[in-house]
Amino acid sequence: MNRVKIAAGNWKMFGNSVQNAELFNAFHAAAADLGGEVMIFAPFVYIPELLALKKQNNSKVVIGAQNICDQAQGAYTGEISAAMLADIGCSHVLVGHSERRSIYQETNEATAEKYELALNNGLMPILCVGETLEQREAEQTMAVVLSQIDAVAEKVGFETLCDTIIAYEPVWAIGTGKTASPDQAQEVHAAIRAHLRAQVGENAKKTRILYGGSVNASNADELFAMTDIDGGLVGGASLKADGFTVICNAAG
Ligand code: PEP
Repeated sequence: MNRVKIAAGNWKMFGNSVQNAELFNAFHAAAADLGGEVMIFAPFVYIPELLALKKQNNSKVVIGAQNICDQAQGAYTGEISAAMLADIGCSHVLVGHSERRSIYQETNEATAEKYELALNNGLMPILCVGETLEQREAEQTMAVVLSQIDAVAEKVGFETLCDTIIAYEPVWAIGTGKTASPDQAQEVHAAIRAHLRAQVGENAKKTRILYGGSVNASNADELFAMTDIDGGLVGGASLKADGFTVICNAAG
């Protein structure tokens, strides 16, 4: 099955209106002649501006959010719901990013709630999973990653999960400059796909599984060339137009 590759930038809590518009223009230019998909996961407050730029430029760039609340609505001061994002025209959302799991103590259960709320509101969730260095050294990588996936599948079912996007992001590789080698990443991606296949058969071939963790202009090509790696979720390197353009081309 031919899976369209994705180059997704997670801007985390960086940027401002001027810088975002410049970066958007570069992402838009990169996306225009690409076979792959280009996505931006922006801080909430900038999403309307980015959606306006997307509209003005008739751009293929997908605009997404980095998080949503694990409740549908109510007295949750400071939170943003899936319905609100859908209301303003946002189409995609990250759930379970390791910074949410580790800094804000978000559990597998909360992640599964968010994932289901995203789906129920017509947003495409990108489920982020990954092990810490300690877990890798204790040879728990597969158990951790598959249990993060199972927590969501228990809620929505494997067939639904297979229609969305998964991002394997080893925690020890995020923002550290230490990338998983293409073989290390492929091993986990293949295990994820085999796990999905055991539940849904050939439908597992359609699931796009992104790699994230210090992807940059120099390593994107060889990572994205691996059989089960369908592009990347990119943090730091998505804040620089030139480097990210190279990454987009690797996904093209
Ligand atoms: C991320 O934030 O999802 C990420 C992978 O960050 P970085 O590329 O900076 O490691």
